[in-house]
Amino acid sequence: MSTASRAALVTGGASGIGRATAARLLAEEWQVVLADLHSGNGAQVAEELREEFGGRVSFVRADVSEEADVAGAVAACVTEFGRIDCVVNNAGVGGAFGALTDIAVEDWDYTFAVLVRSVFLGIKHGAREMRAAGRGGSIVNTASVAAFSAGAGPQAYSAAKAAVVNLGRVAAAELAGDRIRVNTVCPGLIVTPLIGSDVDTARAVMREAQPWPDLGTPEDVAEVIAFLVGDAARFVTGEEVTVDGGLRAA
Ligand code: NAD
Repeated sequence: MSTASRAALVTGGASGIGRATAARLLAEEWQVVLADLHSGNGAQVAEELREEFGGRVSFVRADVSEEADVAGAVAACVTEFGRIDCVVNNAGVGGAFGALTDIAVEDWDYTFAVLVRSVFLGIKHGAREMRAAGRGGSIVNTASVAAFSAGAGPQAYSAAKAAVVNLGRVAAAELAGDRIRVNTVCPGLIVTPLIGSDVDTARAVMREAQPWPDLGTPEDVAEVIAFLVGDAARFVTGEEVTVDGGLRAA
């Protein structure tokens, strides 16, 4: 089936990997709803993408840690395009920094709400719609290489991303009967606002720990997400794909 009529919801679509994913899917003629906390950026990015790709992209403001907002974003996709075939649960923050012996419970909970509850909600509401439509679908969650080791991210962030990895496996098993695939992308060091403006520090980390000699770009991750959501990956589900210049393997 051509992707010409398909519709995707991309969370965290106003920046970084989410924006690049939206652009990549639009280039393949998907219809896209961007969801993001930041209305100003989101509306502007939708406008820029619309200018580049035509009128098949819109923006909805949503806090992905809030169930009503995620349900609303899924509904907005169905209202706008008559369907939802794909959810990219990508929105994220660095979360709480600090040792486990110091982190306040509310900071821990905030990290898990934005990084894990959000993915659960995107799966819950996206898959309900896909199941009701009976056409199958695909979901990709953005975790991180931090899911696999200590030291690749702040403690709460790493634990939350590990939860995202297994959530993807659990969801893949539950939804396979509905022909809904669920996969996880695990970026390494990618130059986006999330790592801050200190690209020099990122380069230093890269030189020390990452075998590949270039920094990763949002487009590097978007390319893999586009593969995972497309028909070429029709037999791929419950999988994690690391996009990290060899960081995890090193
Ligand atoms: P980014 O800061 O460029 O984009 C993240 C987007 O998520 C922003 O537009 C932000 O407004 C949005 N967002 C944050 N909290 C939200 C909320 N509660 N509700 C809705 N939207 C919210 O960062 P990015 O690097 O593109 O990050 C995308 C994903 O990739 C995140 O899940 C992040 O953890 C993951 N990741 C990034 C890297 C990296 O090196 N950049 C590495 C591994 C994983």
